[in-house]
Amino acid sequence: MTKKFNWNFDNSYARLPESFYTRINPTPVSSPTLVVLNEKLAESLGLSAEALNRDESAAILSGNSIPDGAEPIAQSYAGHQFGHFTMLGDGRAVLLGEQVTPEGERFDIQLKGAGRTPYSRGGDGRAALGPMLREYIISEAMDALGIPTTRSLAVVSTGEQIMRETDLPGAILTRVAASHIRVGTFQYAAKWGTFEELQTLAEYTIVRHYPDIEYDDTRYGNFLHAVVERQAELIAKWMLVGFIHGVMNTDNMTISGETIDYGPCAFMDTYDRKTVFSSIDTHGRYAYGNQPQIGVWNLARFAECLIPLIDKDEEKSVELAQSILGEFSKIYNEKWLSGMRAKLGLFSEEEQDEALIYELLDLMEKYRADYTNTFRALTINKLENMALFESNEFQEWDGKWQARLNHQKQSKTEVLELMKVSNPSVIPRNHRVEEALEAAEKGDLSVMEKLLKVLADPYAYVPEQEDYCSLPEPTDRPYRTFCGT
Ligand code: AMP
Ligand code: MG
Ligand code: MG
Repeated sequence: MTKKFNWNFDNSYARLPESFYTRINPTPVSSPTLVVLNEKLAESLGLSAEALNRDESAAILSGNSIPDGAEPIAQSYAGHQFGHFTMLGDGRAVLLGEQVTPEGERFDIQLKGAGRTPYSRGGDGRAALGPMLREYIISEAMDALGIPTTRSLAVVSTGEQIMRETDLPGAILTRVAASHIRVGTFQYAAKWGTFEELQTLAEYTIVRHYPDIEYDDTRYGNFLHAVVERQAELIAKWMLVGFIHGVMNTDNMTISGETIDYGPCAFMDTYDRKTVFSSIDTHGRYAYGNQPQIGVWNLARFAECLIPLIDKDEEKSVELAQSILGEFSKIYNEKWLSGMRAKLGLFSEEEQDEALIYELLDLMEKYRADYTNTFRALTINKLENMALFESNEFQEWDGKWQARLNHQKQSKTEVLELMKVSNPSVIPRNHRVEEALEAAEKGDLSVMEKLLKVLADPYAYVPEQEDYCSLPEPTDRPYRTFCGT
């Protein structure tokens, strides 16, 4: 008997008012082939990895065949893109439904690159193999780093070429998410929906993501606060590992607090707060150092949507929303500071810690030190091969740091353990990701598979990682990332 996939779909989003989505099936593709499957994730969703690994699964993971119980939809949403408000929606993604796990958890199963929808505007609804594998690699690396994120279950190639600047092989990514509800989903409801629709969306989202919020007068203010808190935590985590999202438009900010949209993201190498990789972010709106401020800006757009719900009295509502938004920087700073303390092996809290941290960061910027490798070197106490470590300024800083470490009662071993779990030894370095994608596009998946294996355990500090810590050969061409391919 052939093993079943074990799909267990519910379609709660498709029971919301019809304005929130359009029912649509993926557009079939000519010859779907499984390229990569995330067996662990499959099993954790209650799916059979064995069944998904068989050839027939490509029919489902490409959207050619709809699994029993799924009710495919494209979701409506709006968003501020680089500050400009516009109607968007799933232009190339179809939500199959929600997989309910044996533990009762609910995850969106979405096919990205599944063909045109009513929200496609001029686009073809398709995605290319390279960018879908890139999303797979980086989202899975983020998860392994302990950062909330949408996940990647599989990539299938479609057997079709898609037209971009050059023809590219087409692919479909199966994205798994706590949900795909975005700030932009609320913007859509607030702008074009009725009051009842907005409230329905808010209730749906609270029950799905913040079930502990009580049914009282403060319910929607508490909802706003909870989202502010999750986003502040999320962005602090990005900053601590040097992740640059690249396109923090409000449609790319989830209400669940998961990282979403791996288009133009990249990890910072040389520490520089102004770092931008995205080819279209010409003004550096989404530069590394701007991410916390952009986070608040996006949350302010979210807060605006909730004004009619927070309090019947608009003035009171605005006042309360403002004070809740004001909490962002406090929460963010606390999370970031405690994360930075951990990166430096500090268990206790002292007032001068912040100065100590900023002093190091300033030196890293001055000496153009690699962000990840600096903290890795401090962790394994191998202070070599970097201009930073040669400098007197660093020697001085090191003296202060050692003195500070001696202020706490924890042993050297405990400090080392804390630093190891706080400083990833490997990150998806741009040149390594590119190398894996290039090989994959030529049909050799082994490079990507090796990379995925190393990235799955970023805090391991094992010799197999060494190779993945080195920097690329210097080049004059800065690394560039692209949206929408
Ligand atoms: P993004 O920049 O990835 O957040 O995408 C912004 C919007 O463009 C979303 O509504 C996408 O669904 C849509 N989009 C991106 N690529 C395509 C495409 N190839 N075809 C149709 N819509 C697309
Ligand atoms: Mg997006
Ligand atoms: Mg995108």
